Amino acid sequence: MVVVIDTTSDKPLRPRHPEKAGRPDAISPAKPDWIRVRAPNTRGYAETRSIVRANKLVTVCEEAGCPNIGECWDKKHATFMIMGDTCTRACAFCNVKTGLPEALEAAEPQRVADAVAKLGLAHVVITSVDRDDLADGGATHFAETITAIRNACPTTTIEVLTPDFLRKDGALEVVVAAKPDVFNHNLETVPSRYLTVRPGARYFHSVRLLQRVKELDATMFTKSGIMVGLGEERHEVQQVMDDLRSADVDFLTIGQYLQPTRKHHAVMRYVPPDEFKAYETVAYTKGFLMVSASPLTRSSHHAGEDFARLRAAREAALPR
Ligand code: SF4
Repeated sequence: MVVVIDTTSDKPLRPRHPEKAGRPDAISPAKPDWIRVRAPNTRGYAETRSIVRANKLVTVCEEAGCPNIGECWDKKHATFMIMGDTCTRACAFCNVKTGLPEALEAAEPQRVADAVAKLGLAHVVITSVDRDDLADGGATHFAETITAIRNACPTTTIEVLTPDFLRKDGALEVVVAAKPDVFNHNLETVPSRYLTVRPGARYFHSVRLLQRVKELDATMFTKSGIMVGLGEERHEVQQVMDDLRSADVDFLTIGQYLQPTRKHHAVMRYVPPDEFKAYETVAYTKGFLMVSASPLTRSSHHAGEDFARLRAAREAALPR
């Protein structure tokens, strides 16, 4: 049995996932040859890394151990994770540290905006850890970050990937009022896997949250995603598509779950590329404006290019 120690911070060494330390190891099958990633060793990668460090920012690219970091950071695409590096939930799939987070930093929204300006981003994705410890779940901090980026970089389009704000009445409304261009909230898996994979969340609350965004602002693009390979059935994925379309969600992402450590949920299956293609075809027939389904699809992967396609798809669908 292994204990995963956090070596990424300068604080005293501690288990990264204390709640998972006593679990038996979960062994996943070997990765197939279609899961290939670019090594993070280019000049663009190094430049992105130095801007992230200089602005003392946290990225989900690093914290979640994203397989696309070599490709994305080479193109100066980083997804900023605000409100610290420690999450109050302990999902079975996620590599973000679990524990009691530190107090919010009032200067963080401006530091994020400065980094967006330095990286010259046309489109930025902002996500966060879950902050169940805050009265508003961190909604005001999200809104302040959106406003700081708008002021520093008026032409940059902004996508937020938010937690579920469970039991935080009024929080969602604060984020929507700040007018991000895209509101993303991931369902992560099918409802039958929630208790095991995402035990602190509620499936229908998440679907309802996405529906409520559209009720509050019908012009805002909405987006959601799931991982496959966690033991779900194909018909359950199709049910998720129907639920998301009932909530008027525009954009669906489907990617392969990869196990961060042996203390996390095992990969039950590597879904082959042709099954992703089949999911994409079905999802388009169900009416999504945009679908991205492939083994290495992540909700923020190619988000800028996808946003341009999403806008074009909406315009093309307008009555002439
Ligand atoms: S896919 Fe998203 S999380 Fe992964 S490296 Fe790219 S921007 Fe970061």
